[in-house]
Amino acid sequence: MRAMLRTAENYLDSIRARSLRVFYRGERMESVVDHPVAWPAANCVAEVYRAALAPETAAMMSTTVGHERVNVSNILWRSREDLIARVKWERMIGRMTGRGALRSPGLDAINALAVITDRCDRERGTAYHPRLLAFVDRIQRDDLAVSGAMTDVRGDRSKRPATQADPDLFLRVVRRENGGVVLRGAKAHQTSAVHCHEHLVLPMTCAADEGAWAIACAVPSDAPGVTHIYARQPSDSRRAERSPLDAGLPDFGGCESLMVFDDVFVPDERVFLCGEAEYTQELVRLFGSFHRFCYGGCKVGIADVVIGAASLAARANGVRDRSAVESKLTEMVQLNETMYACGLAAALEGTETEAGTWIPDIALANVTKLNVTRFPFEIARLAADIAGGAMLTLPSQADLEHPELGPLVKKYMAGSPEVSAGDRMALFRLLEFLTHGAGAVYFLHESLHGAGAPEAMKILLRREVPLAPFEDAARRLMASG
Ligand SMILES: Cc1cc2nc3c(=O)[nH]c(=O)nc-3n(C[C@H](O)[C@H](O)[C@H](O)COP(=O)(O)OP(=O)(O)OC[C@H]3O[C@@H](n4cnc5c(N)ncnc54)[C@H](O)[C@@H]3O)c2cc1C
Repeated sequence: MRAMLRTAENYLDSIRARSLRVFYRGERMESVVDHPVAWPAANCVAEVYRAALAPETAAMMSTTVGHERVNVSNILWRSREDLIARVKWERMIGRMTGRGALRSPGLDAINALAVITDRCDRERGTAYHPRLLAFVDRIQRDDLAVSGAMTDVRGDRSKRPATQADPDLFLRVVRRENGGVVLRGAKAHQTSAVHCHEHLVLPMTCAADEGAWAIACAVPSDAPGVTHIYARQPSDSRRAERSPLDAGLPDFGGCESLMVFDDVFVPDERVFLCGEAEYTQELVRLFGSFHRFCYGGCKVGIADVVIGAASLAARANGVRDRSAVESKLTEMVQLNETMYACGLAAALEGTETEAGTWIPDIALANVTKLNVTRFPFEIARLAADIAGGAMLTLPSQADLEHPELGPLVKKYMAGSPEVSAGDRMALFRLLEFLTHGAGAVYFLHESLHGAGAPEAMKILLRREVPLAPFEDAARRLMASG
């Protein structure tokens, strides 16, 4: 059996070798790997490569396709077990990094497109599915990181693509040219796109007369015309200060960018939907739901770290054995395992599609994400309660190491004699990072908005779970009045 897995170093070099147009705070970011603000996010993607080869995690993070070992981030789900495994490895990576498996939007994109291209080919006589399979084969063979780019900037939220003041507010095909299409527009909040080799561009829902916006395709990350405006995150400049204690979680993180397409040419062999607007609603339903069930793994893994840090903070404060603390920690565990149970249930209730791939139960995937829009906030509140005020009022690493101030900081930041003042501070900083700093982008805000704002799940649930059978059940049991 031949392994087709890159090492983390090979992955990082492959991104270094790309000439990307990325701007951070108005200046060109020369290396998206080595810039101090971007490095933790690059290293987080690299961790998914590392984990696929490390003896203790390889079985979870790689699988056999044909005769080859490939990264689980690039597979089409072929069984219920693949779905269950996905929730489990997402949790593992979330726990290992405090962030998550940043190649996941691409995984959801290939699986959503597998279903839709197959259906479109059968109903419309198009030839998208073989193209998609060829693309999947290539990303498996070359072990490429792929982003999933669906969210259009969308301008006025009350308007559809065709009625926006500026038609570019939803990414669109502006013209056909030399055996391909030319794209203009922008995708917002693009997770790790600067650290990917390929972008899988997906449309949002379009009406029948909005075919120009119904475009799904693969774009290499160094395609001419693509520009990234790198997002700021809370406390991101602490990364550049090179004081790991102040950063809270120095080794890992995430990043987003506003990805602008300024007349980007895409050849036909990379196009997976072009003008078939009637398939866009189902594509959004699938892509969104796939991403929603995975949060029952990845956000749970981050919460594992938050709960662990809160427990250690209680030790550092000398109160870990108090029943009030134990009760709060138990409540955090209950909330977290409820999210995990929902993600697993969505996987267990998965079904096979006509394309031969497997998908999670759509209703349960959306229930998972609705819980995820709330429970991490409650877990963060309980962690802050346990940690106390110092979590957000600490002196800095420079103060701790200062010849005159250091002894004062150590004296007055001391808690339990079993934990050093420096370790107590590092714990508070880790919790600060995860719940108020750059990590809160993922533990809280992405939990709320990633894969759609809460209302998107409720709309879907209303469609997926009609109440008529429940009314019938009640009618059957009620006394006649
Ligand atoms: C950290 C992070 C990472 C992300 N990563 C990715 C990624 O990798 N790829 C990707 O494609 N996307 C990504 N997203 C985007 C995510 O899917 C969107 O944030 C989400 O769909 C919500 O869209 P929005 O941010 O434009 O908010 P909006 O849609 O503007 O929502 C704001 C509020 O307005 C309400 N609202 C919106 N429209 C209407 C309407 N017509 N009527 C009534 N109420 C309305 C919503 O319900 C919500 O309450 C990411 C987001 C975050 C925060």
